[in-house]
Amino acid sequence: MTADAVGPFGPLAALRTLLPGMPVFAPGSVWLTGAGPGDPGHLTLHAIAGLVQADVAVHDALIEPSVLDLLRPDAERLFAGKRGGRPSASQADISTTLIARAQAGARVLRLKGGDPYVFGRGGEEARALAQAGVPFRVIPGLTAGLAGLTEAGIPATLRGTNQAVVLATGFATDPESAVDWASFVRLGQPIVLYMAQKTIDSISAALLAAGVDPALPAAAIWAASTPQQRVEVTTLREIGAVVQAGDASRPAVIVLGAIVAARAELARTVGVGGADKR
Ligand code: SAH
Repeated sequence: MTADAVGPFGPLAALRTLLPGMPVFAPGSVWLTGAGPGDPGHLTLHAIAGLVQADVAVHDALIEPSVLDLLRPDAERLFAGKRGGRPSASQADISTTLIARAQAGARVLRLKGGDPYVFGRGGEEARALAQAGVPFRVIPGLTAGLAGLTEAGIPATLRGTNQAVVLATGFATDPESAVDWASFVRLGQPIVLYMAQKTIDSISAALLAAGVDPALPAAAIWAASTPQQRVEVTTLREIGAVVQAGDASRPAVIVLGAIVAARAELARTVGVGGADKR
């Protein structure tokens, strides 16, 4: 079955009307696509256009399985994620697969959680594709560190409270890429941490040692935007213990800063999709 089999009256035709400038998914190319934090409702129309046309989808663990139902029945699905923090496919293998499939003439959808260029190693994959001369396109997605906060009822910026937001990874593979946490303290701006469930104890200790108020509001948001979403509000002093007591098998963003306090006022709002996930 070709991509045309889903048209002329199918979803692809409808998307072409909505997106007149939509590039055709050319055989032999890769669409590096962000799928958002989990709720399929956060997929973009461009991501859906990629899903319905792809010959092969290479996807991460954080992709909601029902999203893959948008693929053509004959499209190939390749899992390239990490389970329980353990890589099941190396980054080099993933890039090699993307390149090999594209060079064999397939329309390759690389589906990643959140935004491909925010802590998703999408930059490395794009670089490998560019070096191999494989044409590719990057489709932005809602990133967990912003959409996750909104889903949890925490505004990322609030007039009078903060003028900036730091998005940081808690995961450092080597001492050279380790973050100087104390340097953030001078900024006095909220910090949103990705991949920090294992490192939050040492990060909060570094911030406390640098003089941050132990009572600074803090929150952890697990599985943001999914039916399993869970939010715990606490303080910088307690955040390590709260995260350790949480479910390490689900992704979590951790937010440290005064913006967390606004949630108390906003928590009665109903979540997107009608479900109050709080
Ligand atoms: N590219 C992704 C981030 C990939 S790194 C993005 O832009 O969102 C993986 C980390 O993202 C996880 O460790 C967690 O910190 C965060 N994350 C991804 N999805 C999440 C979700 N639904 N809820 C909470 N955190 C999430």
